[in-house]
Amino acid sequence: MDLPLLPLFPEASRAAGLQRLDGFLPRAGAAYARDRNHDRGAAVVRGNVSMLSPFLRHRLISEAEVIAAAVGRHGAAAGKFVEEVGWRSYWKGWLARRPGVWAAWRQGVAQDLAGLVRNPALAAAVEAAEAGRTGIDGFDHWAQELARTGYLHNHARMWFASIWIFTLNLPWRLGADLFMRRLIDADPASNTLSWRQVAGLHSRGKAYAARAANIHGFTDGRFNPAGQLNETPEPLDEAPPPPAGPVPRPYPADPRLPALLVLTEDDGRPETLFDGLEMRGAVALDLTPFRAVAGPVAEPAAAFARDALADAAARLVAAGGPAALPVGAPTAEALAATLIDDARAAGARQIVLPHPAAGHAAMVVDRLIPRLQAAGLHLATRLRRWDAATAAGASHGYFRFRKGLPPLVELALSGGADEICMTDESRR
Ligand SMILES: Cc1cc2nc3c(=O)[nH]c(=O)nc-3n(C[C@H](O)[C@H](O)[C@H](O)COP(=O)(O)OP(=O)(O)OC[C@H]3O[C@@H](n4cnc5c(N)ncnc54)[C@H](O)[C@@H]3O)c2cc1C
Repeated sequence: MDLPLLPLFPEASRAAGLQRLDGFLPRAGAAYARDRNHDRGAAVVRGNVSMLSPFLRHRLISEAEVIAAAVGRHGAAAGKFVEEVGWRSYWKGWLARRPGVWAAWRQGVAQDLAGLVRNPALAAAVEAAEAGRTGIDGFDHWAQELARTGYLHNHARMWFASIWIFTLNLPWRLGADLFMRRLIDADPASNTLSWRQVAGLHSRGKAYAARAANIHGFTDGRFNPAGQLNETPEPLDEAPPPPAGPVPRPYPADPRLPALLVLTEDDGRPETLFDGLEMRGAVALDLTPFRAVAGPVAEPAAAFARDALADAAARLVAAGGPAALPVGAPTAEALAATLIDDARAAGARQIVLPHPAAGHAAMVVDRLIPRLQAAGLHLATRLRRWDAATAAGASHGYFRFRKGLPPLVELALSGGADEICMTDESRR
């Protein structure tokens, strides 16, 4: 698809994230609760939602910072905004405790792709949907908006996913893969689990129906696919997910060993991550080749990830840390070889990185561990208190998680949420 790009996120930096937060804060209270569901399109400056997701996804700013700022400004009136940010942490914690759900999605995409080879009509339908050539009012626009901007409003994501699954009858896992290739905020937990929710696989038996009247109302009359949609979808069915496993625990660092620091897209605040280590060197690891299955990540999303890493690296240097070399490779084996070389060149005996989020980052780290160990290198991860506390609350549904929001808000307000978790703390 050769449409001109429309850059909505021209700068991937902490400064740009903080500026966006500052600009949005006056509307993070009652105005957000009232207006957030309207999708007025990419042509207008959206004021009813924050558009903070790319910055939160790369943790150029943290969930706790955003929640503390909103509550500090609006008090209880920030409740709806806090709940929505809570969804991000809930999904992340839920998947961290059931990583097999992501692995099954990934495996399923490979099967679906093989199915397209056997079924050219289905392959053509997927291609038409990705390119926005279905004739369905709204849907085609969102497909093109996604390609041009790397962002869709939450409501548009829900409508798009519902139409993809229930009107076009396309495999949901391929739709989730499309989002992983194109969204600037592409996140294995928020994305995979939101698609599952729309499909009726998360809150089991409850699918999300995109309705023409709802689309007409919440796009302020821009679209009206009346008569074009399946408005009474049958939820998809598959074996239920396993019960929640343990909350994530960091691999402890050995403070006596000189360290090679690894910056990743999971945490863009290295200046607050690596205290207490003898830092011998650093690398900025590009994980975008592992995000999706069906193809490479689109340029707006890849560029944001690259620039976010560069911004994080610059702040590490400003804080007295080592300069980070950009590192990337198409396979975990090649990455391991590069990291081993870099660690040896820097005289490092351990590799320390942000605790990898469930999804592709955790998959890559799992594959690195035996190779690094075989090379005599210790691997350690840094987990923030926020991630441990929110994963502890993500054992069941969001309703139960939401009941636990008040202590999480207290943690955010205390300023301690972004601190590093000691090894045993996350077990509680
Ligand atoms: C099918 C589908 C796929 C999605 N894929 C992703 C994804 O890959 N990455 C991603 O960050 N979000 C994803 N979302 C969630 C949500 O649509 C976006 O986080 C939100 O639209 C981002 O815009 P915003 O920053 O203006 O949100 P705001 O309304 O301003 O919300 C503030 C922040 O809260 C969080 N948030 C809000 N709503 C949700 C939600 N429903 N689920 C999780 N977090 C939320 C985001 O971090 C967001 O930046 C998906 C939703 C659906 C329905």
